[in-house]
Amino acid sequence: MKFVLVAINLPIKNLFKQFIYSVPSEIKGLEVGWRVVIPFGGQKVEGFVVKTFTEATLEQESDYTDVSKIKPIIAALDVKPWFNAEMLETALWLAKYYMCSLAEAMRLFIPGKTSIKKKPIYNADGKLIAYEYEERLQEKNLLAYQISDLGKKALNEDIWGRSKKQESALQEFAKLEDALTVKEAEDKGISAAVLRALADKDYLTRTEKRIFRNSYEKDVLKTEKLVLNEEQKVAIKTVCNCLDDKNAQQEYLLHGITGSGKTEVYLRITEHALKQGKQVLVLVPEIALTAQIVRRFQAWFQDEVAVVHSKLSQNERGDVMYKMRTGEAKVLIGVRSAVFAPFDNLGVVIIDEEHEGSYKQEERPNYNAKLVAEIRCKNAGAVLLAGSATPSLESYYKATNNEIGYLELPKRATGGVLPEVSVVDMRKELKDGNKSVLSRKLRREIISASAAEEQTIVLLNRRGYSTFVMCRDCGEALLCPHCAVGLVYHAKDNHMRCHYCGNVYPIPTECPSCKSTRIKFFGTGTQKAEEEINSLPLTTTLRMDQDSTSKKLAHEEILGDFINRKANVLLGTQMVAKGHDVPNVTLVGILSADSILNLPDFRAGERAFSLLTQAAGRAGRGDKAGKVVLQTYDPENETIMLAAKQDYLTFAKKELEFRKELNYPPYSTILKLTVWEKEETLGIKLGDEIVAFLEEFCKSQNIEDCEILGPFPGIVAKVRDLYRLNILVKANDMEIIKKALFTSKYKELKNIYFDVDPLSVI
Ligand code: ADP
Ligand code: ZN
Ligand code: ZN
Repeated sequence: MKFVLVAINLPIKNLFKQFIYSVPSEIKGLEVGWRVVIPFGGQKVEGFVVKTFTEATLEQESDYTDVSKIKPIIAALDVKPWFNAEMLETALWLAKYYMCSLAEAMRLFIPGKTSIKKKPIYNADGKLIAYEYEERLQEKNLLAYQISDLGKKALNEDIWGRSKKQESALQEFAKLEDALTVKEAEDKGISAAVLRALADKDYLTRTEKRIFRNSYEKDVLKTEKLVLNEEQKVAIKTVCNCLDDKNAQQEYLLHGITGSGKTEVYLRITEHALKQGKQVLVLVPEIALTAQIVRRFQAWFQDEVAVVHSKLSQNERGDVMYKMRTGEAKVLIGVRSAVFAPFDNLGVVIIDEEHEGSYKQEERPNYNAKLVAEIRCKNAGAVLLAGSATPSLESYYKATNNEIGYLELPKRATGGVLPEVSVVDMRKELKDGNKSVLSRKLRREIISASAAEEQTIVLLNRRGYSTFVMCRDCGEALLCPHCAVGLVYHAKDNHMRCHYCGNVYPIPTECPSCKSTRIKFFGTGTQKAEEEINSLPLTTTLRMDQDSTSKKLAHEEILGDFINRKANVLLGTQMVAKGHDVPNVTLVGILSADSILNLPDFRAGERAFSLLTQAAGRAGRGDKAGKVVLQTYDPENETIMLAAKQDYLTFAKKELEFRKELNYPPYSTILKLTVWEKEETLGIKLGDEIVAFLEEFCKSQNIEDCEILGPFPGIVAKVRDLYRLNILVKANDMEIIKKALFTSKYKELKNIYFDVDPLSVI
């Protein structure tokens, strides 16, 4: 008799245990990595096989009690295991490193997260042995109908009577060589009911037809082969040599300024990997940045490219994974979750804009796709190539310490120079009586760019109309009653919105605390800036922010309109700063360089530097020189000055010194614990208890370099009526601390949240 250990695929965060089941003899070939259906708590649920036993090895298992109490699994799911050895190994690592259950880690690899209630498959004796996804046939547009011989015969007979609909539908099918999916039939006016009726009479036969959805139109770009420059050649050669070596498990940082031809390097390396029959994963930070890179990859590799991003439907995502699974597609481009795609022959993982925060998932399990990619590459023997104009300090540190390879592209590929940056002191503007969000300099530059039929990108780091709403008399800012955070005024629909919980509130006529009626809207959001820019001569504006891009692909439409010159200014939050290559843009305006810098977080400087550099890099990408106007209330700030000079090396050196002094990553690792409580005092009590536990643990183990801070309220102290209290642990060897927490009672508490390697500590 065979037994299996099963991780239960249920979204219960503190179900850490795995369970033993027996395997009925009619289910053959079940190994680690299979999905199965099992009885659990009176239900049929999905699980993952993580270990197999014989009767003899089972007896050595600690959980083992009595064979007669072990329940049999109900059936296998699917006809082939979903997890290969490398995926399983990565999942095991993930659960341990990110302090989640193995099932939670494994769920990340399943495109639909869960999937039972499928078509049963019986063996010759009539015993249920497996389920196959019947729904999948429907969902994926797989289920199709085709006319049968009987149907053809029936058309020649006068048997139809009143079922004219069926007759004409069948005639439609007779005209076709091919099968029609339900959807295609519906498009031809044939209903699903008619299809079923005809199939019941055996006039139509059911079959499968795979139609892949593709949200991106394929516009065929010319793939003229450029003459590579020396630096590009070196980068390509180094990585390709590494690919040729079977035991290569290398990691490289490609540090190339904006417009230095990094994408060109990615394309050539991909070409090389494909020639070896390997698959390539390209990770991009967000949907906003995918469009251009997708087009370039599709131009080179056509149908071998599949794309997955967060706005795809579940079905579309399933299609993409299926293509990767079968090897039908060789290149996958996607956002962070694409790192869990099934690959059997992974050659290279490319991470574009590797410094971006969106590679980190901010909910449980809070993995960082960059690190997951690193581990997958190690497990799969693949090469990792991370590219950026402003590498994360962690990557840069590793590169300068020779822990990973360092490849540099220091010049613009088209020979252009970096834009000239002017820093404008906004305090002086105000003193001179200019109350607008636009400095006089930026206003002049926009007007002259518009007059020359050139385009401008304006970056503003906030959305909404005004950023906050405040009483002029008592100075009270209006806060969301459920979250301790200021409300944002949205002019278009004249309301205030909480950007944390999404609740919408009417504008009060009087101040809730002093009853004054003098309510004022402060700061400048995108909507207000849009109005001001639109009032400039010859100038029209397109706005891109979360409010305007929540619709699928809206982002690309806006960008498409901008590229097609439907407007000469593109205004928006961070997303306008990144990745696009619009040759006609000669001017970039940055309205508020300070707002990110002033966050009380150790990565604030790094984030500000990279955003400012990325934004500046948008200017002058064609053959015209670029200009940048950087507005700030703090022109002497060092980070702002270095960003204006686009001097990454000096910035990195200074910032690393600061990190070293304060023992922040890369010199330490951080674990953030957050306690959630309805009552603040209870939160503090639990927080104190955990801190005491950790201190005691460190003392008992003689761990001296571990710093434990807190509990202190998060920068947003309350969200959705729950108080948040943070504890920060800084240590050199975090694994031992994690293990201590993981074997304590705290791991099971539902209101404690572990963030391993948090992006921010506030
Ligand atoms: P990055 O990804 O580093 O921002 P891209 O790969 O998008 O840079 O290249 C910027 C521009 O330079 C693109 O228009 C690209 O076609 C062009 N380019 C890249 N490499 C070369 C080269 N060797 N010679 C001429 N133009 C190049
Ligand atoms: Zn007031
Ligand atoms: Zn709220």
